[in-house]
Amino acid sequence: MAVLLIAEDDEDIALVLVRVFKRTGMTVLRASDGRAAFDAILEHRPDLVLTDLGMPVMDGWELIEAIRNHPDDDVRLIPVAVLSGHLRPGDPRAGSARVCAIMLKPCPNDQLLATMEELISIGPHDHDAADKRCPADVPVSV
Ligand SMILES: [Zn+2]
Repeated sequence: MAVLLIAEDDEDIALVLVRVFKRTGMTVLRASDGRAAFDAILEHRPDLVLTDLGMPVMDGWELIEAIRNHPDDDVRLIPVAVLSGHLRPGDPRAGSARVCAIMLKPCPNDQLLATMEELISIGPHDHDAADKRCPADVPVSV
């Protein structure tokens, strides 16, 4: 069964997300800032990460960098999706971020679930491979 880590500092949104994904049978871990999320990733090596961008201590961009720069493949290659209310259209960081999908809040639950299930089916993959785009090919909805 897939293990999903959700990094989200807003308590209400986090509770909704945890419930939505638990209903599908996933094991859901939750962290309320980027640093706590990264510690949980190192400890539990989840199959999938869904992260907010604006968070205390360590934000989502920093968390993504930390994941993608980690020496262990079972951290570095984890599929990562972003769910944010902060991103503005044309934010250059969205284009260069090594993420599989970017979704804006509020995001319909069925789109969230479909995106995450597609990423689970694809599994770990390398965002640094020069000859290979992210196989998810999920459009950035910004
Ligand atoms: Zn990807």
